Amino acid sequence: MITAIIVAGGTGERLGREGGKQLARVAGRPVLAHTLDAFITCDRVDAIVVVVHPERVDEYRREAVTLLGSAKIVAVVPGGDTRTASVGAGLEAVPAGSGIILVHDGARPLVTPDLVAAAIAELEREPEYAGVVVGHPSYDTLKTVAPDREVLSTPDRAAIWAAQTPQVFRADALREAYRRAEAEGWAGTDDASLVEHAGGRVRMCAGPRDNMKVTVPEDLPIVDRVLRARRGESFVDDIRVGMGYDVHAFAEGRPLVLGGVTIPHSKGLVGHSDADVLVHALIDAILGAMREGDIGKLFPDSDPAYAGISSIELLQRVAALMRERGFELLDADMVLILEHPKIAPHREAMRECVASALGADVTSVGVKATTTERLGFTGREEGVAAQAVVLLRGPGR
Ligand code: MG
Repeated sequence: MITAIIVAGGTGERLGREGGKQLARVAGRPVLAHTLDAFITCDRVDAIVVVVHPERVDEYRREAVTLLGSAKIVAVVPGGDTRTASVGAGLEAVPAGSGIILVHDGARPLVTPDLVAAAIAELEREPEYAGVVVGHPSYDTLKTVAPDREVLSTPDRAAIWAAQTPQVFRADALREAYRRAEAEGWAGTDDASLVEHAGGRVRMCAGPRDNMKVTVPEDLPIVDRVLRARRGESFVDDIRVGMGYDVHAFAEGRPLVLGGVTIPHSKGLVGHSDADVLVHALIDAILGAMREGDIGKLFPDSDPAYAGISSIELLQRVAALMRERGFELLDADMVLILEHPKIAPHREAMRECVASALGADVTSVGVKATTTERLGFTGREEGVAAQAVVLLRGPGR
């Protein structure tokens, strides 16, 4: 039987995030959920023990563990003050009969099932070794440096490897190493160093460089992008769609304003503002994509401030809100539904007026018109209807 201890006991202080770096969200899920997923998916692993921050056991269960609902997770235990104490707590929960125990950092979510299986297989192939550590040769030149930052020496890079996790051990060797470290009050920087200290032989298993540990805030976007790229997602994934629809009635003695352009006609549209039905549909589409309600919520027609106001001015305010919230307009298409007047001669002016209000390129704005073959209220020329759809890039979910 093979059991993995996932150590998620850190407070995430270096990350500046309350609740620990393991609960920071990347690619739609907590860091720890991605990590656990790799071990759940790896069929060489039979059982998983999760060690979490002692004051946050319930939070971790809720956020990451129950999310996965895997029967492989046999225990969620509170960790200790140090990493050694946390792994020690995890060891106590490892099911009897586990001949091989893996230890892995909860904050290394880029680990893959294949990497876990490869490390296990390497230990199984090498009977004289007590442990196998996943890592890679140092790609950077390393320096030993004095407290005043003077370089003291440059060790030969060929002999230096970066040690990551998973680290895979024969269960008796790991347990003995922990017993001995505890008895001697000896603290290593990783689990393998405890096994080495106890006289066990440990070898490196070459793994990929991207099996990184989330340690500082700038690690999160890197991990997020790698996870999304592995899923085949574009880096620009937060795409929102919005639709809008509006109707205004015709009346004598009103100007006809459509898409910000005043069009000569025998009648115009009735409304609290200038009744620009096309721009209203567009505003509703944008607000819909932003999940910000609708035009009536933002600019109530009971408010005298909006009496007779230019709808293009309202659109400018919506564009400002869009930028403020981190949204960007990628594309907009609109259709006017009316019998008369003909829209084609004014189409380019409308596109330019709307694009300018949005701060967008005119190629991102489409305007067209259709009739309803004289059917319905638009066919009877009682009013004008308009529809709009937009595509926005959001700030990331
Ligand atoms: Mg309206």
